[in-house]
Amino acid sequence: MNRAGSSAEPDDLGAIFRRLIRNTGPISLTQYMGESNTRYYASRDPLGQGGDFVTAPEISQMFGELIGLWLADVWINSGKPEYVHYVELGPGRGTLAKDALRAMKRYGLEPEVHFVEGSGALKEVQQEAVPHARYHDDLSTLPPDDPLLIVGNEFLDALPVRQMVKTPDGWREREIALQDDAFVFAAGNRPMDAAVPEDWRDAEDGTILETSPAQAAVMYELAGRLSDQGGAALLFDYGHAELKAGSTLQAVRGHQKVDPLAMPGEADLTALVEFGTLARIAQSREVRWIGTVEQGAWLQALGIDARTQALSQAAPHHAEDLRAARDRLVEADQMGALFKVMGLTGYGWHGGAGFG
Ligand code: SAH
Repeated sequence: MNRAGSSAEPDDLGAIFRRLIRNTGPISLTQYMGESNTRYYASRDPLGQGGDFVTAPEISQMFGELIGLWLADVWINSGKPEYVHYVELGPGRGTLAKDALRAMKRYGLEPEVHFVEGSGALKEVQQEAVPHARYHDDLSTLPPDDPLLIVGNEFLDALPVRQMVKTPDGWREREIALQDDAFVFAAGNRPMDAAVPEDWRDAEDGTILETSPAQAAVMYELAGRLSDQGGAALLFDYGHAELKAGSTLQAVRGHQKVDPLAMPGEADLTALVEFGTLARIAQSREVRWIGTVEQGAWLQALGIDARTQALSQAAPHHAEDLRAARDRLVEADQMGALFKVMGLTGYGWHGGAGFG
Protein backbone atom coordinates (compact mmCIF):
# COMPACT_ATOMS: atom_id res chain seq x y z
CA MET A 1 0.00 0.00 0.00
CA ASN A 2 1.30 3.40 -0.95
CA ARG A 3 1.35 5.65 2.09
CA ALA A 4 2.51 8.73 0.20
CA GLY A 5 2.14 12.04 1.97
CA SER A 6 3.24 11.07 5.48
CA SER A 7 3.97 14.01 7.74
CA ALA A 8 7.71 14.04 7.06
CA GLU A 9 7.29 14.80 3.36
CA PRO A 10 7.43 18.31 1.90
CA ASP A 11 4.09 17.94 0.08
CA ASP A 12 2.38 17.02 3.35
CA LEU A 13 -1.12 18.51 3.21
CA GLY A 14 -0.81 19.81 6.78
CA ALA A 15 2.21 21.89 5.70
CA ILE A 16 0.32 23.20 2.64
CA PHE A 17 -2.67 24.21 4.80
CA ARG A 18 -0.36 25.93 7.32
CA ARG A 19 1.29 27.99 4.59
CA LEU A 20 -2.09 28.88 3.11
CA ILE A 21 -3.58 29.95 6.45
CA ARG A 22 -0.47 31.99 7.37
CA ASN A 23 -0.57 33.76 4.00
CA THR A 24 -4.26 34.34 3.45
CA GLY A 25 -6.09 33.57 6.71
CA PRO A 26 -8.33 30.75 7.95
CA ILE A 27 -9.87 28.28 5.47
CA SER A 28 -13.42 26.95 5.57
CA LEU A 29 -14.10 23.51 7.05
CA THR A 30 -15.55 22.64 3.64
CA GLN A 31 -12.22 23.29 1.94
CA TYR A 32 -10.32 21.51 4.71
CA MET A 33 -12.51 18.39 4.50
CA GLY A 34 -12.72 18.33 0.70
CA GLU A 35 -8.98 18.63 0.12
CA SER A 36 -8.13 16.27 2.98
CA ASN A 37 -10.33 13.49 1.61
CA THR A 38 -9.15 14.00 -1.96
CA ARG A 39 -5.59 13.58 -0.73
CA TYR A 40 -6.53 10.71 1.57
CA TYR A 41 -8.24 8.59 -1.11
CA ALA A 42 -5.94 9.48 -4.03
CA SER A 43 -3.02 7.37 -2.96
CA ARG A 44 -4.36 4.45 -0.96
CA ASP A 45 -6.86 1.64 -0.56
CA PRO A 46 -8.08 2.32 2.98
CA LEU A 47 -10.59 -0.55 3.15
CA GLY A 48 -10.35 -3.80 5.07
CA GLN A 49 -8.65 -5.19 8.14
CA GLY A 50 -5.19 -3.95 7.13
CA GLY A 51 -6.48 -0.46 6.28
CA ASP A 52 -8.40 2.18 8.19
CA PHE A 53 -12.03 1.00 8.14
CA VAL A 54 -14.31 -1.84 7.02
CA THR A 55 -17.49 -1.31 4.98
CA ALA A 56 -20.61 -3.47 4.53
CA PRO A 57 -19.64 -5.02 1.15
CA GLU A 58 -16.27 -6.04 2.63
CA ILE A 59 -18.02 -7.75 5.56
CA SER A 60 -20.10 -10.12 3.43
CA GLN A 61 -20.97 -10.92 -0.20
CA MET A 62 -24.61 -11.01 0.96
CA PHE A 63 -24.72 -7.19 1.06
CA GLY A 64 -24.00 -6.73 -2.65
CA GLU A 65 -26.06 -9.77 -3.62
CA LEU A 66 -29.20 -8.42 -1.94
CA ILE A 67 -28.68 -5.04 -3.62
CA GLY A 68 -28.44 -6.86 -6.97
CA LEU A 69 -31.63 -8.73 -6.12
CA TRP A 70 -33.45 -5.47 -5.30
CA LEU A 71 -32.33 -3.86 -8.56
CA ALA A 72 -33.33 -6.94 -10.60
CA ASP A 73 -36.75 -6.88 -8.91
CA VAL A 74 -37.48 -3.24 -9.82
CA TRP A 75 -36.17 -3.86 -13.35
CA ILE A 76 -38.56 -6.82 -13.77
CA ASN A 77 -41.44 -4.78 -12.28
CA SER A 78 -40.69 -2.02 -14.75
CA GLY A 79 -40.95 -4.17 -17.87
CA LYS A 80 -37.28 -5.25 -18.24
CA PRO A 81 -36.05 -2.41 -20.45
CA GLU A 82 -33.28 -3.73 -22.70
CA TYR A 83 -30.68 -0.99 -22.19
CA VAL A 84 -29.87 -0.04 -18.60
CA HIS A 85 -26.74 1.21 -16.88
CA TYR A 86 -25.45 0.22 -13.45
CA VAL A 87 -23.84 3.25 -11.85
CA GLU A 88 -21.89 3.07 -8.62
CA LEU A 89 -20.73 6.13 -6.71
CA GLY A 90 -17.40 5.61 -4.92
CA PRO A 91 -17.17 1.84 -5.48
CA GLY A 92 -14.23 1.28 -3.11
CA ARG A 93 -12.67 -2.09 -3.96
CA GLY A 94 -15.41 -2.98 -6.48
CA THR A 95 -16.72 -5.72 -4.20
CA LEU A 96 -20.32 -4.49 -3.99
CA ALA A 97 -20.52 -4.10 -7.79
CA LYS A 98 -19.09 -7.57 -8.40
CA ASP A 99 -21.53 -9.22 -5.98
CA ALA A 100 -24.53 -7.20 -7.23
CA LEU A 101 -23.75 -7.83 -10.92
CA ARG A 102 -23.46 -11.58 -10.26
CA ALA A 103 -26.88 -11.60 -8.56
CA MET A 104 -28.50 -9.48 -11.32
CA LYS A 105 -27.17 -11.80 -14.03
CA ARG A 106 -29.15 -14.70 -12.53
CA TYR A 107 -32.30 -12.75 -13.43
CA GLY A 108 -31.11 -11.90 -16.92
CA LEU A 109 -30.09 -8.32 -16.02
CA GLU A 110 -26.66 -7.46 -17.45
CA PRO A 111 -26.32 -3.66 -17.45
CA GLU A 112 -23.40 -1.64 -18.71
CA VAL A 113 -21.22 -0.65 -15.73
CA HIS A 114 -20.19 2.92 -14.82
CA PHE A 115 -18.06 3.90 -11.84
CA VAL A 116 -17.90 7.43 -10.46
CA GLU A 117 -14.54 7.37 -8.70
CA GLY A 118 -11.95 9.99 -7.81
CA SER A 119 -9.15 7.78 -6.48
CA GLY A 120 -6.42 6.49 -8.78
CA ALA A 121 -5.36 3.88 -6.25
CA LEU A 122 -8.88 2.50 -5.87
CA LYS A 123 -9.47 2.48 -9.65
CA GLU A 124 -6.64 -0.05 -9.94
CA VAL A 125 -8.27 -2.31 -7.36
CA GLN A 126 -11.70 -1.89 -9.00
CA GLN A 127 -10.36 -2.89 -12.41
CA GLU A 128 -9.38 -6.27 -11.00
CA ALA A 129 -12.90 -6.83 -9.65
CA VAL A 130 -14.91 -5.39 -12.58
CA PRO A 131 -12.66 -5.06 -15.63
CA HIS A 132 -15.32 -3.74 -18.00
CA ALA A 133 -16.38 -0.72 -15.90
CA ARG A 134 -16.25 2.74 -17.48
CA TYR A 135 -15.03 5.66 -15.38
CA HIS A 136 -16.46 9.09 -14.56
CA ASP A 137 -15.12 11.90 -12.38
CA ASP A 138 -18.67 12.96 -11.51
CA LEU A 139 -22.26 12.32 -12.61
CA SER A 140 -22.22 14.83 -15.48
CA THR A 141 -20.66 12.44 -18.02
CA LEU A 142 -22.98 9.48 -17.37
CA PRO A 143 -24.91 8.34 -20.46
CA PRO A 144 -27.76 10.78 -21.16
CA ASP A 145 -30.24 8.15 -22.37
CA ASP A 146 -31.55 4.89 -20.92
CA PRO A 147 -32.43 4.17 -17.30
CA LEU A 148 -29.78 4.26 -14.55
CA LEU A 149 -29.53 1.84 -11.62
CA ILE A 150 -27.56 3.91 -9.13
CA VAL A 151 -25.90 2.56 -5.98
CA GLY A 152 -23.73 4.25 -3.38
CA ASN A 153 -22.42 2.90 -0.09
CA GLU A 154 -20.58 5.27 2.22
CA PHE A 155 -20.09 7.73 -0.63
CA LEU A 156 -22.13 10.72 0.61
CA ASP A 157 -20.55 10.68 4.08
CA ALA A 158 -17.13 11.35 2.55
CA LEU A 159 -18.27 14.53 0.77
CA PRO A 160 -17.40 17.80 2.54
CA VAL A 161 -19.75 19.42 5.05
CA ARG A 162 -20.17 23.07 5.93
CA GLN A 163 -20.65 24.15 9.53
CA MET A 164 -22.17 27.33 10.92
CA VAL A 165 -21.67 28.43 14.51
CA LYS A 166 -23.80 30.90 16.47
CA THR A 167 -21.71 33.66 18.05
CA PRO A 168 -22.75 36.74 20.06
CA ASP A 169 -22.48 38.64 16.74
CA GLY A 170 -24.74 36.22 14.83
CA TRP A 171 -24.13 33.11 12.72
CA ARG A 172 -20.68 32.59 11.23
CA GLU A 173 -19.09 29.88 9.09
CA ARG A 174 -16.83 27.52 11.01
CA GLU A 175 -13.28 27.80 9.76
CA ILE A 176 -9.90 26.25 10.41
CA ALA A 177 -7.28 28.58 11.84
CA LEU A 178 -3.82 28.10 13.36
CA GLN A 179 -2.78 28.33 16.99
CA ASP A 180 1.01 28.06 16.90
CA ASP A 181 1.34 25.04 14.59
CA ALA A 182 -1.93 23.34 15.50
CA PHE A 183 -5.17 23.55 13.52
CA VAL A 184 -8.10 24.88 15.56
CA PHE A 185 -11.73 25.73 14.81
CA ALA A 186 -12.57 29.43 14.61
CA ALA A 187 -15.60 31.49 13.65
CA GLY A 188 -15.32 33.43 10.37
CA ASN A 189 -15.86 37.18 10.02
CA ARG A 190 -18.67 37.26 7.47
CA PRO A 191 -22.27 37.26 8.73
CA MET A 192 -23.98 34.01 7.66
CA ASP A 193 -27.43 34.43 9.21
CA ALA A 194 -29.08 34.31 5.79
CA ALA A 195 -27.67 30.79 5.24
CA VAL A 196 -29.33 29.42 8.39
CA PRO A 197 -32.98 28.19 8.39
CA GLU A 198 -35.26 30.74 10.03
CA ASP A 199 -36.23 28.66 13.05
CA TRP A 200 -32.54 28.30 13.95
CA ARG A 201 -31.61 31.99 13.78
CA ASP A 202 -32.04 32.65 17.53
CA ALA A 203 -30.29 29.51 18.77
CA GLU A 204 -27.98 29.71 21.78
CA ASP A 205 -24.43 30.92 21.29
CA GLY A 206 -22.12 28.05 20.49
CA THR A 207 -24.80 26.10 18.57
CA ILE A 208 -23.38 24.39 15.50
CA LEU A 209 -25.36 23.55 12.37
CA GLU A 210 -23.90 21.19 9.80
CA THR A 211 -25.07 20.89 6.20
CA SER A 212 -23.53 19.50 3.05
CA PRO A 213 -23.95 21.49 -0.16
CA ALA A 214 -21.83 18.81 -1.88
CA GLN A 215 -24.24 16.02 -0.89
CA ALA A 216 -27.19 18.19 -1.88
CA ALA A 217 -25.66 18.80 -5.32
CA VAL A 218 -25.13 15.07 -5.92
CA MET A 219 -28.71 14.32 -4.88
CA TYR A 220 -30.11 17.08 -7.10
CA GLU A 221 -28.26 15.78 -10.14
CA LEU A 222 -28.96 12.11 -9.44
CA ALA A 223 -32.69 12.69 -8.95
CA GLY A 224 -32.82 14.78 -12.11
CA ARG A 225 -31.31 11.87 -14.05
CA LEU A 226 -33.84 9.41 -12.64
CA SER A 227 -36.68 11.75 -13.45
CA ASP A 228 -35.45 12.23 -17.07
CA GLN A 229 -34.12 8.73 -17.83
CA GLY A 230 -35.93 6.41 -15.43
CA GLY A 231 -34.24 3.89 -13.17
CA ALA A 232 -33.73 3.56 -9.44
CA ALA A 233 -31.25 4.44 -6.71
CA LEU A 234 -30.18 2.94 -3.39
CA LEU A 235 -27.98 5.07 -1.13
CA PHE A 236 -26.56 3.57 2.05
CA ASP A 237 -24.87 5.63 4.71
CA TYR A 238 -24.65 6.27 8.38
CA GLY A 239 -26.90 9.14 9.23
CA HIS A 240 -30.01 10.56 10.81
CA ALA A 241 -33.47 11.60 9.70
CA GLU A 242 -33.53 15.38 10.24
CA LEU A 243 -31.29 18.39 10.82
CA LYS A 244 -30.00 18.46 14.42
CA ALA A 245 -27.63 20.78 16.20
CA GLY A 246 -24.00 19.72 16.61
CA SER A 247 -20.96 18.62 14.68
CA THR A 248 -20.82 15.01 13.50
CA LEU A 249 -17.43 15.36 11.82
CA GLN A 250 -15.18 12.44 12.63
CA ALA A 251 -11.85 11.03 11.54
CA VAL A 252 -10.82 7.39 11.46
CA ARG A 253 -7.38 5.90 10.98
CA GLY A 254 -6.31 2.32 11.62
CA HIS A 255 -9.84 1.47 12.90
CA GLN A 256 -9.54 4.15 15.63
CA LYS A 257 -11.24 7.51 15.95
CA VAL A 258 -8.68 10.31 15.81
CA ASP A 259 -8.79 14.11 16.03
CA PRO A 260 -10.17 15.39 12.67
CA LEU A 261 -7.69 18.29 12.74
CA ALA A 262 -4.61 16.25 13.66
CA MET A 263 -3.55 14.75 10.31
CA PRO A 264 -5.25 16.23 7.24
CA GLY A 265 -5.06 13.81 4.32
CA GLU A 266 -3.96 10.91 6.53
CA ALA A 267 -7.29 9.96 8.11
CA ASP A 268 -10.75 9.35 6.63
CA LEU A 269 -13.03 12.32 7.37
CA THR A 270 -16.77 11.68 7.39
CA ALA A 271 -19.96 13.24 8.74
CA LEU A 272 -23.42 11.79 9.33
CA VAL A 273 -25.73 12.11 6.34
CA GLU A 274 -28.95 14.04 6.98
CA PHE A 275 -31.47 12.05 4.97
CA GLY A 276 -34.48 14.36 5.47
CA THR A 277 -32.99 17.17 3.39
CA LEU A 278 -31.84 14.71 0.71
CA ALA A 279 -35.35 13.24 0.40
CA ARG A 280 -36.83 16.73 -0.03
CA ILE A 281 -34.29 17.57 -2.72
CA ALA A 282 -35.07 14.31 -4.54
CA GLN A 283 -38.81 14.98 -4.40
CA SER A 284 -38.33 18.46 -5.83
CA ARG A 285 -37.23 16.72 -9.04
CA GLU A 286 -40.21 14.46 -9.64
CA VAL A 287 -38.80 11.15 -8.55
CA ARG A 288 -40.49 8.80 -6.14
CA TRP A 289 -38.85 8.71 -2.72
CA ILE A 290 -39.71 5.16 -1.60
CA GLY A 291 -38.41 5.75 1.90
CA THR A 292 -35.37 5.82 4.15
CA VAL A 293 -35.13 2.82 6.49
CA GLU A 294 -32.57 1.23 8.77
CA GLN A 295 -30.07 -1.00 6.98
CA GLY A 296 -30.78 -3.93 9.32
CA ALA A 297 -34.52 -3.90 8.65
CA TRP A 298 -33.98 -3.53 4.90
CA LEU A 299 -31.54 -6.47 4.72
CA GLN A 300 -33.96 -8.62 6.70
CA ALA A 301 -36.86 -7.69 4.44
CA LEU A 302 -34.70 -8.66 1.46
CA GLY A 303 -34.05 -12.10 3.00
CA ILE A 304 -30.59 -11.93 4.57
CA ASP A 305 -31.56 -14.57 7.15
CA ALA A 306 -32.58 -17.13 4.52
CA ARG A 307 -29.46 -16.31 2.51
CA THR A 308 -27.25 -16.80 5.60
CA GLN A 309 -28.84 -20.18 6.15
CA ALA A 310 -28.51 -21.29 2.54
CA LEU A 311 -24.83 -20.32 2.39
CA SER A 312 -24.21 -22.01 5.75
CA GLN A 313 -25.78 -25.24 4.55
CA ALA A 314 -23.65 -25.17 1.41
CA ALA A 315 -20.47 -24.53 3.44
CA PRO A 316 -21.01 -25.63 7.08
CA HIS A 317 -17.42 -24.80 8.06
CA HIS A 318 -18.23 -21.12 7.30
CA ALA A 319 -21.50 -21.08 9.24
CA GLU A 320 -20.06 -19.23 12.23
CA ASP A 321 -18.42 -16.54 10.08
CA LEU A 322 -21.62 -16.09 8.08
CA ARG A 323 -23.66 -15.63 11.25
CA ALA A 324 -21.14 -13.08 12.59
CA ALA A 325 -21.20 -11.15 9.30
CA ARG A 326 -25.00 -11.17 9.24
CA ASP A 327 -25.10 -9.85 12.82
CA ARG A 328 -22.62 -7.11 12.04
CA LEU A 329 -24.72 -5.86 9.13
CA VAL A 330 -28.13 -6.27 10.76
CA GLU A 331 -28.03 -5.93 14.55
CA ALA A 332 -29.03 -2.58 16.02
CA ASP A 333 -25.98 -2.36 18.28
CA GLN A 334 -23.69 -2.93 15.28
CA MET A 335 -24.34 -1.39 11.82
CA GLY A 336 -28.05 -2.22 11.54
CA ALA A 337 -29.63 0.91 13.04
CA LEU A 338 -27.08 3.70 12.54
CA PHE A 339 -26.82 2.90 8.83
CA LYS A 340 -29.82 3.78 6.69
CA VAL A 341 -30.79 3.14 3.10
CA MET A 342 -32.70 5.60 0.98
CA GLY A 343 -34.59 4.33 -2.08
CA LEU A 344 -35.68 6.29 -5.15
CA THR A 345 -37.37 5.32 -8.40
CA GLY A 346 -37.61 7.41 -11.54
CA TYR A 347 -40.25 8.09 -14.08
CA GLY A 348 -42.07 4.93 -15.22
CA TRP A 349 -40.30 2.71 -12.68
CA HIS A 350 -42.13 0.59 -10.14
CA GLY A 351 -41.64 -1.49 -7.05
CA GLY A 352 -38.87 -1.30 -4.48
CA ALA A 353 -38.92 -4.00 -1.82
CA GLY A 354 -37.94 -3.54 1.80
CA PHE A 355 -39.19 -0.01 2.44
CA GLY A 356 -42.30 -1.07 4.34
N1 SAH B 1 -18.45 2.07 -1.50
C1 SAH B 1 -17.21 1.49 -1.03
C2 SAH B 1 -16.17 2.55 -0.62
C3 SAH B 1 -16.58 3.56 0.41
S1 SAH B 1 -15.26 4.70 0.75
C4 SAH B 1 -17.48 0.51 0.08
O1 SAH B 1 -18.57 0.50 0.59
O2 SAH B 1 -16.59 -0.24 0.42
C5 SAH B 1 -15.68 6.11 -0.24
C6 SAH B 1 -15.52 5.93 -1.73
O3 SAH B 1 -15.91 7.14 -2.39
C7 SAH B 1 -14.13 5.63 -2.24
O4 SAH B 1 -14.21 4.80 -3.39
C8 SAH B 1 -13.61 7.03 -2.59
O5 SAH B 1 -12.51 7.02 -3.45
C9 SAH B 1 -14.84 7.62 -3.21
N2 SAH B 1 -14.92 9.08 -3.17
C10 SAH B 1 -14.86 9.87 -2.06
N3 SAH B 1 -15.03 11.17 -2.39
C11 SAH B 1 -15.23 11.20 -3.73
C12 SAH B 1 -15.48 12.23 -4.68
N4 SAH B 1 -15.57 13.51 -4.30
N5 SAH B 1 -15.63 11.91 -5.99
C13 SAH B 1 -15.56 10.60 -6.38
N6 SAH B 1 -15.33 9.57 -5.53
C14 SAH B 1 -15.15 9.86 -4.23
